Amino acid sequence: VIPSEPAPIRRLEQSLINRIAAGEIIHRPSSALKELLENSLDAGATSIRVTVKEGGLRLLQIQDNGSGIQKDSLPILAHRHTTSKLSSFSDLSHLTTYGFRGEALASISHVADLSVVTKARGEQCAWRACYLDGEMVPSKPGLSAEPKPAPGNFGTTITVASLFHNTPARLSALRSSSEEYARILDVVTKYAVHNSHVAFFCKKLGGPTTDLSTPASGTTKQAISMLYGQGIAKELIALTVTPTSTMSVSRSGKRKRESANEDEEADSALEDDENTKAAWTADVQFTSANYHAKKMVFLLFINHRLVESSRIKRAIESVYTGILPKGSSPFVYLSLRLDPTTVDVNVHPTKREVHFLDEETITERVADAMQAQLAGMGERVFEYQT
Ligand code: ADP
Ligand code: MG
Repeated sequence: VIPSEPAPIRRLEQSLINRIAAGEIIHRPSSALKELLENSLDAGATSIRVTVKEGGLRLLQIQDNGSGIQKDSLPILAHRHTTSKLSSFSDLSHLTTYGFRGEALASISHVADLSVVTKARGEQCAWRACYLDGEMVPSKPGLSAEPKPAPGNFGTTITVASLFHNTPARLSALRSSSEEYARILDVVTKYAVHNSHVAFFCKKLGGPTTDLSTPASGTTKQAISMLYGQGIAKELIALTVTPTSTMSVSRSGKRKRESANEDEEADSALEDDENTKAAWTADVQFTSANYHAKKMVFLLFINHRLVESSRIKRAIESVYTGILPKGSSPFVYLSLRLDPTTVDVNVHPTKREVHFLDEETITERVADAMQAQLAGMGERVFEYQT
């Protein structure tokens, strides 16, 4: 074979570069939704409504009652690397918000029609702006791109329409809108469990029913009961694990941490440890040996961010070896709060993968505490029937 002439190297068009970069962050409707939910939570929302059409490919709308966005910020809202959450590299280690790289809205605007209606406190009316490829654009031909006054409540409504309209390969890889909707519901469900003080709603546009609805004030256990079923909720064991102690929570009663004293205890445990070594707290709610599912349901939050970790999942799953019959699995919700300086959230554009110091030690302590509780429960289970 005679090698053909080498083709000259050329630079890709900027719009294509942007679209490729956006695709690394926004894989599918549920990944766009996760970013938008996190923005709403960052804005202090206590009510978040999600409306979906065709699995989010046609329409994905998130309405929140959070802080809103200043009108003056709207022109740069969808530029890359514009954020209200980070201004210097050293801020990175103190992050207490979800966002920081200012890429979510920019990315969405490169692969969808993005529009925003927002009303900040003190504003007389809401402002509406539309975006394409990072820039503010007119909502209709002939109009200016400037934000337009609009009716609206305090807070922000973000509408993502025609997702992946300009990336046909991506679009055709996501043919099933029912699967995309299931993924969207899964993300909303998990955030609703973790944020039981926030009301969440999720429905299909024009659909007859709200598929998910939680109240603005509830406990984690109530949210689990509502969203995953009473069968799980009544078998839940709650534990708070810190480097130095484990607090168990009675199965029938309230979680101990919720009483004022215990709260102080938990807080001071965190403070004490801050002076010596990295502090952490794990809140875990897991099913007893009485509950058997076919597939493990595992909700993992690290510093309030929904993440995946097959290593942690495997370690937690193995706690149940010998406790559950072969082929059956538990429900486990694990919320790890770590010193932000020990967490590297910067490893992956989607921030889904998180690395942190002492991962093995922490996982082992949590697993051991769960194991001890499960092992000790064997005969006492029936005392706690509700
Ligand atoms: P990041 O969250 O990393 O800052 P984003 O692209 O997700 O980047 O958002 C850019 C900025 O837009 C945020 O920093 C925030 O100031 C503002 N913003 C986005 N969504 C909302 C919202 N729902 N409520 C209030 N402000 C928002
Ligand atoms: Mg964000």
